[in-house]
Amino acid sequence: MAKDRAKIWAKTALTEDGWQKDVLVDITADGRIAGVTPDSPPGGHRADCLLPAPANCHSHAFQRAMAGLTERRGPDPRDSFWTWRRLMFRFLDRLDPDQVEAIAAFVQMEMLEAGFGTNVEFHYLHHQPDGRPYANLAEMAGRVVSAANDTGIGLTLLPVHYEFGGCDRRPLSAGQVRFGNSEAQFARLVDASRRALSSLGPDARLGVAPHSLRAVAPQSLGATAALVPEGPVHMHLAEQPAEVDEVLAAYGRRPTEYMLDSGLPDGRWCLIHATQMTPAETTGLAATGAVAGLCPITESSLGDGIFDGVRFLGHGGRIAVGSDSNIRISLAEELRTLEYSQRLRDGTRAALATPDRSTGRRLYEAVCAGGAASAGREGGRIAPGLWADLLALDTSLPDLDGLAGDTLLDSFIFAAGQDAIADVWSAGRHLVRGGRHIARDAIAARYRDAIHRLRSGL
Ligand code: ZN
Repeated sequence: MAKDRAKIWAKTALTEDGWQKDVLVDITADGRIAGVTPDSPPGGHRADCLLPAPANCHSHAFQRAMAGLTERRGPDPRDSFWTWRRLMFRFLDRLDPDQVEAIAAFVQMEMLEAGFGTNVEFHYLHHQPDGRPYANLAEMAGRVVSAANDTGIGLTLLPVHYEFGGCDRRPLSAGQVRFGNSEAQFARLVDASRRALSSLGPDARLGVAPHSLRAVAPQSLGATAALVPEGPVHMHLAEQPAEVDEVLAAYGRRPTEYMLDSGLPDGRWCLIHATQMTPAETTGLAATGAVAGLCPITESSLGDGIFDGVRFLGHGGRIAVGSDSNIRISLAEELRTLEYSQRLRDGTRAALATPDRSTGRRLYEAVCAGGAASAGREGGRIAPGLWADLLALDTSLPDLDGLAGDTLLDSFIFAAGQDAIADVWSAGRHLVRGGRHIARDAIAARYRDAIHRLRSGL
């Protein structure tokens, strides 16, 4: 049976032509925006304020189950990213495919409830705990796809290539063997992932991700990117000082310098964690057209450092936000944390505002455009022809009542809670209604069962 075209009418909407009133959005049966008509009489689903729902550009879904478990000091006198990483590897000894699917569904549900329309999954947990592949090489990728079938989120799946335990090409440690593939096996995994994705709707996309300069041979970056020539390419760039030092010692250049000299980054690329860049690297990366994939909540949690957003955006750089470790999934909080990091560093206010755009407006439009690019997805704006990835705010809440335009957006980002998000659509699929995902109870029950088994005896 053919699906009917859907209509959403909003009192106000941030369209490609700016703020407009009484906007009717017409959506095709396959989930694309057919028309955007301001000054229309009400019809269809009624919303207060309609915004594009951006993509979440970076996630390792399984890490959601570790959220809050790593806040005690480890044996090192100065706890750091690396102690967190050791606990993550212990956790990995236990995860099975059913648990991964349950966790991924919970994460995707939370992303939708937080206002994200798309999950760009940087997927590197491929194999059994001892490193042997599952009978189906893409077993785990298939579980992420199954989760997306249950939640309805737009999925851009990035199979991750992870070959070495460090720049010196040491073998993978016990904690890393679930990630590893030879080049040939990785090519087969990409093909199998493509087949797994075919069970989703036409908005699902495949990309590819060389993990980092620590985990892949730099010479093979181009070949890895060429495995999915039509999709986005993501890579962890420069998150931690120790990582920068390791790359510098091995290759004579810092990671961002290395990538800029390689000439590889362009509009297809999204470089994740740009927290350790010099001013020259920041302006150089901005000029490539690559997206900087920022994860301000996780980068704060892990003490990674502060991305230079003022300089990067000032030089025309493109940004997206992701939830990475998924310790907390919130679109508004990612944007708020990014802006506050600039203020704390510089002693300023409205650090990322411009003369014609408020802080919230500039950030929101930037991550919608950059998020769509990072996902390889036709989205990021309320405009005909694009996927209907949409978010409706409830402006009757005290924090938003009576506000309009950029001030309304600023108040959503800086003042309101997650309950401001009333509805979310991904490619026209109406998945969050009244602030709750339509399958929340079942997805949450499955997640609780998975983490009970996982956490017992950790
Ligand atoms: Zn990451």
